[in-house]
Amino acid sequence: MHIRNFKYQAQPMRVRFGAKELHKVQEEFDTVEFSRALVVCSPGHSDLGARVRDLLGTRALGLLPKARMHVPIELVTEGRATAMAMGAGSLVAIGGGSAIGLAKAIALDCGIPIMAIPTTYAGSEMTSIWGITDNGGKHTGKDMRVLPRVVIYDVELTVSLPTATSITSAMNALAHAIEALYAPDVSPIISLMAVEAVRSIVNALPRIHHDGQDISARTDLQYGSWLAGACLGATTMSIHHKICHILGGAIDLPHAATHAVLLPHVVAFNAPAAPEALEVLVDVLGTSDPARLLWDLAGYCEVPRSLDELGMRESDIDCVIPSILADQYANPRPVSDSALRDLLRQAWQGSPPSRIEFFN
Ligand code: NAD
Repeated sequence: MHIRNFKYQAQPMRVRFGAKELHKVQEEFDTVEFSRALVVCSPGHSDLGARVRDLLGTRALGLLPKARMHVPIELVTEGRATAMAMGAGSLVAIGGGSAIGLAKAIALDCGIPIMAIPTTYAGSEMTSIWGITDNGGKHTGKDMRVLPRVVIYDVELTVSLPTATSITSAMNALAHAIEALYAPDVSPIISLMAVEAVRSIVNALPRIHHDGQDISARTDLQYGSWLAGACLGATTMSIHHKICHILGGAIDLPHAATHAVLLPHVVAFNAPAAPEALEVLVDVLGTSDPARLLWDLAGYCEVPRSLDELGMRESDIDCVIPSILADQYANPRPVSDSALRDLLRQAWQGSPPSRIEFFN
């Protein structure tokens, strides 16, 4: 590997990883010297939120079981008012990217620190990226105030995640690692983390498909997702994330499944312009065509491979193209209107990604 000049900023956070680590929540809370917390979770997981509240005892002020996908602004306003009214000194978010996203949106306003306890593989807990949906569009930004100060990964919390959701969520994590490999601000340490994330996640996916209760496979997925989240937090993502972001905000497609459908197509599209990243993927995945392997893997794991299956209409392709092309993200390959249309049509239909001929 050729080492180029790079910049790398380590993130100021603690990570605790392993089975039954949730029981250490009070110890972690005291270690980082948080003051009394508002616990944030989704309505469907208020049992988990209540468990954390009970584990925190008098350190918890209350529960906000209201998080929703894509963090709508009305919810953020309500969450900020609740946190202020209670006089919360910290936020403890347990759940997927939606719960952690709501805590981040609250913290963006008042700067109170966050502890994150993720139960999916989305990776938001490792980043300073926030997102809020307003007027049919998702606005995002980076702010160090929303970076969780402490993250607890407990594999046992992921066992109840349905198998299909686990697979698409882990493919969301794969997308972070893969786009980090060709990011303009990638550094050698992030490349190492990305390779390890890809190896760990791809190895675990068929095992999870076979047995969703397999703790060893779940540990590998969570480990890979932690690394992938760190890659996301340390680099600038490219066209893949831009497309998913627009499809989520404009037509409310499910976040993780959208990533899973698009990833093989974006890998094929970018392959000719990102030879070093492609070489790394070829090596770690043991195939000359990583895009096809990812598409086959999604098929093997029986998760959707078309945007059509996710509820997108073919006519939506025309509607989203201008937003995707506006303020284009850094991408190794220039994205033209017609190339993007072809890519989206393939992903909409669920046809295999274009063949990667580079190494053949
Ligand atoms: P999510 O939080 O909505 O969870 C996905 C599904 O999994 C939901 O149905 C949820 O109820 C279920 N679930 C979660 N934990 C579970 C458990 N332990 N058992 C059973 N079911 C469980 O979605 P997500 O995919 O985790 O995150 C997506 C959101 O996060 C999007 O809004 C996305 O934009 C955001 N995100 C942000 C960042 C960032 O850095 N800011 C990174 C990744 C994702």
